[in-house]
Amino acid sequence: MKKWVFAFILVILLSYGISQLNVKSAGEDKVDIENGSLPSEDSQMITVSKEQMYQGDLLLVNTNYALHPAGVRKDIVSLSSRMDLVKGYGLLDPSIQLSQSVARSFGEMVEGAKRDGVEHFLISSGYRNAEKQDQLYRDMGHDYALPANHSEHNLGVSLDIGSSTAKMDDAEEGKWLKKHAWEYGFILRYPKGKEDITGIQYEPWHFRYVGKAHSAIMYEKDLTLEQYLDKLKETKAMSVTLDNQKYTVAYYPMVGDGATVRVPKGTHYEISGNNYDGVVVTVSA
Ligand SMILES: [Zn+2]
Repeated sequence: MKKWVFAFILVILLSYGISQLNVKSAGEDKVDIENGSLPSEDSQMITVSKEQMYQGDLLLVNTNYALHPAGVRKDIVSLSSRMDLVKGYGLLDPSIQLSQSVARSFGEMVEGAKRDGVEHFLISSGYRNAEKQDQLYRDMGHDYALPANHSEHNLGVSLDIGSSTAKMDDAEEGKWLKKHAWEYGFILRYPKGKEDITGIQYEPWHFRYVGKAHSAIMYEKDLTLEQYLDKLKETKAMSVTLDNQKYTVAYYPMVGDGATVRVPKGTHYEISGNNYDGVVVTVSA
């Protein structure tokens, strides 16, 4: 085959691939997702330790993957003793705990909802330690609860949100969250129709913090955390633009006791493990 014919076909194939990744649904043109990686001239390779695989915003904890002790948030607080964090919503019981930074993002989300006239939120569950999870598992059975160290609640980044007016599925609070939670870094973790993938029945109340760039891609592409991590492995890198801020997200496998990852020189970046075989680098530039 002539070289130019080959090059031509390659260009067509590449642009097809990129157009497949471009998501521009009606009314959502502020989210633009495409294939992309960091330019090598502005970045460098560094090695991260295996420990990093068990820490961060993107840890997958489910029936198959247990929580590693390093994955539990270090900033767990008792919400009732931190009323400066609890504004505009209620707590179902005073013992509810959560990661402080996740509680801050939740507070911003509640404020956003209030601007839309939605304001009857109630947190019914947050962080649970292994002992509490074990008790719940024994009380509720395996159809309704996960065993200790297999629930996201054991990480401190997930919360069950209710409404004081109606069941979440019918309440304005539930409807608003379904549409807007991603804007604050949260995902509806166990959606309807994805039971085969998550292994959990539809839970309109269970939200999980993953960070804004990731929640935007998952929402736009209708991916659960399991599917998103798979997709990242497959595409290696993706970029998303939100309110004129571009984020590049890239996956790197753990090889032996470390992963060699590309990070920018000087700019801010975050590394999160997936809790099973690699790490994800998120760069905001
Ligand atoms: Zn839950």
